[in-house]
Order: sequence, then structure tokens, then C-alpha cells
Amino acid sequence: KVRVRFAPSPTGPLHIGGVRTALFNYLFAKKHGGDFILRIEDTDQTRFVEGAETYVNEALNWLGLAIDEGVVQGGAYGPYKQSERKDIYLDYADRLIKSGWAYYAFDTAEELDAERKAAEATKTKFSYDMHTRQGLKNSLTLTPQEVEQKIKNGTPYVVRFKMPANEDISAMDIIRGAVKFNTTILDDKVIFKSDGLPTYHLANVVDDYLMKITHVIRGEEWLPSLPLHIMLYKALGWENECPEFAHLPLILKPTGKGKLSKRDGDKAGFPVFPLEWTSPDGETASGYRESGYLPGAVVNLLALLGWNPGTEQEIFTMDQLIASFSLERVNRSGARFDPEKAKWFNHQYIVNLDDAQLANEFASALSQKGLDASIELRMQVVSLVKERINFVSDIWDQASFFFVAPDTYDAKMIKKCWKGEVPSFMAALPIEFENIAAWKAENIKACISAKIEEKGMGFGMVMNALRLSLVGGGFGPDLMTIAQILGRKETMARIKKAVE
Ligand code: GLU
Repeated sequence: KVRVRFAPSPTGPLHIGGVRTALFNYLFAKKHGGDFILRIEDTDQTRFVEGAETYVNEALNWLGLAIDEGVVQGGAYGPYKQSERKDIYLDYADRLIKSGWAYYAFDTAEELDAERKAAEATKTKFSYDMHTRQGLKNSLTLTPQEVEQKIKNGTPYVVRFKMPANEDISAMDIIRGAVKFNTTILDDKVIFKSDGLPTYHLANVVDDYLMKITHVIRGEEWLPSLPLHIMLYKALGWENECPEFAHLPLILKPTGKGKLSKRDGDKAGFPVFPLEWTSPDGETASGYRESGYLPGAVVNLLALLGWNPGTEQEIFTMDQLIASFSLERVNRSGARFDPEKAKWFNHQYIVNLDDAQLANEFASALSQKGLDASIELRMQVVSLVKERINFVSDIWDQASFFFVAPDTYDAKMIKKCWKGEVPSFMAALPIEFENIAAWKAENIKACISAKIEEKGMGFGMVMNALRLSLVGGGFGPDLMTIAQILGRKETMARIKKAVE
């Protein structure tokens, strides 16, 4: 059975890149009738941020990515939070030391710093590896007695993986194909720290194994860690049970140059987080939810960042995504994030909402302005403007004149149309309107057209003057429909006010 995991570290809000990783894991799992597991990787206590774990759960929930096993849901392979699995990792670190795959290292931060400086002086970069480990303070260079003594004395230590010399490691990446590494250029990574917790590498591999993960689907930034992970599987005797790997392409800035970052969003005014986030020190970052995006639109736009269905189709429900998704159709190269396209997606989803739903959403926008309007009026208005909006909040910008009469008029428009016989024509119009039997767009139009013909006026000029009177400027949807929705009384009142 397919089992995949999304394994965020609770170091801050989930970036949309992380959300896309979660989404691709989810789609892959559901496509294959498998399980989607949420594992919290919190072994780096120095980077822990309060609230980040709750944020992950809320974000996945908002987007409709249901978790099968996790901290909240439970499951047969828990605990699902790494800080609650300390003893497990300690045991595996011990095994690696006993089998000679790992060793204790006692070098202090100052000593390592000195090594780094010395290397810099010769324009090289220090790394703790097969070339340098002999000269350093570790259980490969000290006698067993010395090591024992140090541990007894409580000297802080870390455990490092002993990367073997000159071994070729090759792996199959579902997206990238064959990837090859040689161990000679790899360093001896810390796998267990002095605080009694493992590092990401050990915890990640141990958990993927114990949780029976079949496919590791994660961001490209983890590809350089792959050889170490493969060596860890080997060292632990699990090489025949290695999961399959798929490293997802980066999400790039709108310019296409470099990885999309939080700052790109801040600068250009688009969110890079699913939900608004307030950090423990009070800084806030905007979210898709609070910016008026619908969750379906966000899922849809993220799905197409790096994956393509091989057809022209762009709008997908979650079920359609599950049915069409495959890792083979994920691109190798980075996916450019386009904030305008993101709005376009939201537009598609807004247009597809039914009018009653949209009218409901709009009611709260109105009440925030101290206004209210009947459901009938709201429905007429939203159906009229929905083709022109990307967000519910745009309805107000497009249609505020339905709810408050203009109190200023566009000066340019006045100059253009409010001249000659127009003012007296407009003054006479309300009397004509009294005689329209049923207040409907086509009847209003017929009435005005007849009058225009009778007086020999310019049609465009009169229409501009009427628009000016009803909305205050040269914008808005079909004028006769506006008049119909405003109603006879209000239309007449607005014309009278404009004529004054
Ligand atoms: N904890 C890692 C992260 O924050 C998980 C990487 C992985 O999926 O292996 O991205």
C-alpha cells in the first residue's frame, strides 16, 4: 500500500512551496488508494516556533488535504512528532556506532571555528570528512579509554556518520531519473546532537523506515541529502527497503530568477503563505485565505506549479486532480510563480460560485461598511458584476453605486456630455419614466430611445449623461440593467439630483 508523508519542521508558517509538496503527496497517495501522513520534524529545538504546528494543520484543513495519520489523527505508527521519539533515535545512533558506521566527536564549537578559519587562510573550505577527521577529536582518533572517560565526565559530544571513501551511490529519482554521487566529496554529517536529539537526517530516515513510507516526495533542496540518506539505509541494513524518491522542482520568483521567497511577496503585494501568519514577535504576513482566495483555486493553481496534465485543461476539481496526477508528469525545471495567473484562477472559481453563495459572502462585506441590502438586490448585483471580479472584495469596487448614490460626478464626463440640450433633456426624463408600465431594462431603453429620436439628440451623449447621473462616472456594467436594479424611484431621484 502506498504510504507518503509530509514532514514539515515547525519553524514558521508553511510557505506555498511547502503546501505544494503536501498537495503532491496527497494527490499521489489518493491516486493510489494510499495514506497521507503528517509527521512533525521538530528535532531542531533552536528553530522551533510557537504556533507553527497548529498553522500546518489549519492550512492543510483549509485546503481540503485530509490527513490519514498524524499527531491529531493518531495512527498505528506513532508518535508522529519526532521530539516524542527520542529513545528510538538514540537506539539507532548506538547501533551505528557499534557497527562502525558512526563515531563520537568531541570537538568544541571553538575548535571547529579555528579549523574553518585556518582553511579560509588557504582559500579552502573546512569540512569534517575523511580527509580531516584523523586530525580531530573523535572516537576514531582517541583511545577507547579516552572516549569512555570523556563520556563519563559529561564532555559534550555529537555523533557523526562515517562517510566511506570513494563509493559510488546511485539512485533513481522518479522525476529526475538516475542520480549519481561519489562519497569522497561528502562530509561526515552530524546525525545525533549533544542535546540528546537526532538531526534531521537520522530522524527522517529512521521514521520513513519505521512508518513504512513507500515514496518520499519532497522539495529539490533535499536532493543533496539523498546520498547520505541512502548510505544510512545501507548502514542500518535496510537497503532493500529503501523508499522511492521524487524531488520536486523549485517554485521560482515571478521573474523566473531564483527561488520564490517571502520578500518577493512583500514587495509585490501577493501572499506566499496559505493563511495569514502572526509571528510570536508580532510580525504579520498575508495569506491566501485572508486575501480572498478560495481554497479550490489555491489547490488548482499550486497543482499546476511544476506538474502538467499533458492537455490544455487548467481548471480541475480535487477529484479530477487525483485522477490525472502522476509524478512522471512533474517537470524537472523550476516552476515560475505568476501572481496574475493566481488571480485568474480565483476569478474562475468565483465565477463558478452560485449567485446566492456569492451574495452571502458579499453581505458581510456590506455590513462591514454599515450597509445592508436585501438578498434579491445582492443577487442581482453579484450576477451582474461577477464576470469582472477576482475577489469578493472586488464586488464593492465594481458596484458600490448600487448601495450609495454618487455625491460627486466625474469632471471630465461632465465636460464631455453635460452641455447643449442635454441638461433640459435630462430634467424632463423622470416625467417620461413615470409612464413606463413595467420597470424593465428593455422598456426603459425603448422609452429613452423614443424620446431621443423625437428631440433629435445624440444617443451616446444622452447615455453618458444618464450614466453620470446614476453612477457618478464613466464606469459600470450595462446601464439599462443598472437602472432596472436601482428601481424606478431611485433612478428618478438620482437624475433629479444630477440635474440640480
Ligand atoms: N523536515 C523537512 C522539511 O522541513 C522534511 C524534508 C523531507 O521531506 O525529507 O522540509
